[in-house]
Amino acid sequence: MLIQCRACGKPIPKRRGGYQYCDDECRQRSTQNSRQVIHRVLTRRRMLFEFAAIPWVGPSNLLGSVPTTKAQLHEYAWKEVQRLDGLILKKGLDDPSARKSIRNGAAALRKLFEDKGIRTGEDAMLVARTHELLRDAGVEGEPSRPDITSIRRHADAAVALYAEIRDYRNLGKALIASANTCRLDEDDRTADRMFRAGYHILNERCSRTDPGIARLLHQVSFWKLRLSAQNLDRCEIRKQLNDLSNLACELGEPSVHLETYREEVGCLTHELRDYDKAAERLVEMKELLRGMSFQPSYPAPTLLRPEIELLIKTGEKDAAIHLIENDYATLYRNNRHLHYYRVLQSWIRKYGLSIQVPSPAYASPILIYLPR
Ligand SMILES: [Zn+2]
Repeated sequence: MLIQCRACGKPIPKRRGGYQYCDDECRQRSTQNSRQVIHRVLTRRRMLFEFAAIPWVGPSNLLGSVPTTKAQLHEYAWKEVQRLDGLILKKGLDDPSARKSIRNGAAALRKLFEDKGIRTGEDAMLVARTHELLRDAGVEGEPSRPDITSIRRHADAAVALYAEIRDYRNLGKALIASANTCRLDEDDRTADRMFRAGYHILNERCSRTDPGIARLLHQVSFWKLRLSAQNLDRCEIRKQLNDLSNLACELGEPSVHLETYREEVGCLTHELRDYDKAAERLVEMKELLRGMSFQPSYPAPTLLRPEIELLIKTGEKDAAIHLIENDYATLYRNNRHLHYYRVLQSWIRKYGLSIQVPSPAYASPILIYLPR
């Protein structure tokens, strides 16, 4: 059976596994960006592993009876990682008891591997997963500087470990999450770089025929567009929006279409100033949302924000303020995430609003759940 070389399109015989190129030159050319990313990540690795080795003091009795053989240890750790991941999905990060359980469980797992050391790829994978859990569970209350630094370090450690074991799917995903950690830290410059790095890895090292990869490529593409849109010309923005929409159609999943509409409304409002088209997309987004059997509550405020911003741009400030003071504020009170607090505060300051909102309950880099 013949397939096409991924770089030049020349027909070549299909081989098992990995990517298919006709020669080394094609391979080199096509993987240049991702090779640079991996090189950069691994150069920083030493520093990260020094951090990973800081002894952790905590409730060690959480582990109860821990198995002693390597195989039993891995089995135990995988089960625990899945249980904690399940808490994010089933209870949601907006549940304080879920955040606490995830933090304690992941910290205990990390301690276990620190005592035994990271020796195999599977060890590295499990430690990376615990860093991801600690990153996503975030911190309680309004974060201090060291709090944010610790979330960023967990994010970086996961990136370094996945790079080390050449797990490109997870590396791409961890780079996206790491970029979101930078956004939480209001460091958009590094976030932009991280999103690009994630894009290169997913695009050059993974196959987009895998729906999981296509979903991640969709996410990283809209983030990349969001952070760079102000520097792009209208033509390029339309092209990228078009690509996003095509990718969403390929996937055919309601949640992906929802995100696409949201990004379209945002871009059409702010960069393209095509308010009619933005309003059209907004109607489509709301229709889709109404028809969905499962209404995602966690990212709900992100779906409301484009509507508020469109109303403001089209001179309907009163309607916008009504949405801010009622709908958005209510969603925030039910999920007091730092990011939504900041958005709300910026509106309160800008429009001199008098509503009172409680301070944030927690900060996490995750606003959209990334499937594991
Ligand atoms: Zn070729």
